[in-house]
Amino acid sequence: MKTLILLLFLVSCSSTNLSSYTPYNVSIKPGEVKLLSLKTPRKNAKGKVSCNNQEIPYLENNGTISIFLAETYFSKLKPFSCQYIEKEEKVTIANIKIEKKAFPFEQLSVDRKKVFYSKKDLKRILKEAKQLKLVYKGNKKDVFFNGPFALPIKSKVTSIYGTKRLFNNNKNSQHLGTDFRAKLGTSIRVSNVGKVVLADDLFFSGNTVIIDHGLGVFTMYGHLSKISVKVGDQMNKGHVVGLSGMSGRVTGPHLHWGVKVHGHWVDGDSLILETEKL
Ligand SMILES: [Zn+2]
Repeated sequence: MKTLILLLFLVSCSSTNLSSYTPYNVSIKPGEVKLLSLKTPRKNAKGKVSCNNQEIPYLENNGTISIFLAETYFSKLKPFSCQYIEKEEKVTIANIKIEKKAFPFEQLSVDRKKVFYSKKDLKRILKEAKQLKLVYKGNKKDVFFNGPFALPIKSKVTSIYGTKRLFNNNKNSQHLGTDFRAKLGTSIRVSNVGKVVLADDLFFSGNTVIIDHGLGVFTMYGHLSKISVKVGDQMNKGHVVGLSGMSGRVTGPHLHWGVKVHGHWVDGDSLILETEKL
């Protein structure tokens, strides 16, 4: 009997002891997203996952927890770790190393009103920034996406993610999305299952649609000539969000496709690559 009690005690200890967890070593580059599948630190995990002091939504399934890890374009290349935290207990589940990455450069000329803002435009820009902040806060616990993400259009990429830009020989910026060549009126398709959280005309990206895919992942489609969806619509794979155009700050008709994960604009290609294994 004593042995049985001791055995039960040991078993219950080992199932709740977080300190024996061996953390994963992961490397990531600025502007990248990674999908990590880690051994669950505890069955039916109810705690929080925090990376670089930011809480990250996760999915627990079949002994693994899945999280998206996103590194900002503006990374200081400082390593950090991810922790699982439950009540008073805390365990490091992953150590993250950041690798350097170089980005290309391009010069563009756009309508000077889109570079030197009027008072009225500045007011609009600030109002839209607030609106977008709320949109991207979203509901992070739900998971809508299903399987790999896909490109919104099959076409030539005219400006890749991360390109450093000089507007009108004066203003520096970074292109934190991907531009695709798109004739006016081309159907633009959603990258994965999700929910429409914005369908509006914005100063920079013109007619814009934003989709919440859950687990902290959003995609945005800019410069549309026509928006075909409204806020709250459920999108399935292949659904059309609108038609391509040249609204907002543009040099000509094209699609701007943006991917935001945990508040950072990341390279859509890395999201597709990482979710191909799903
Ligand atoms: Zn763009």
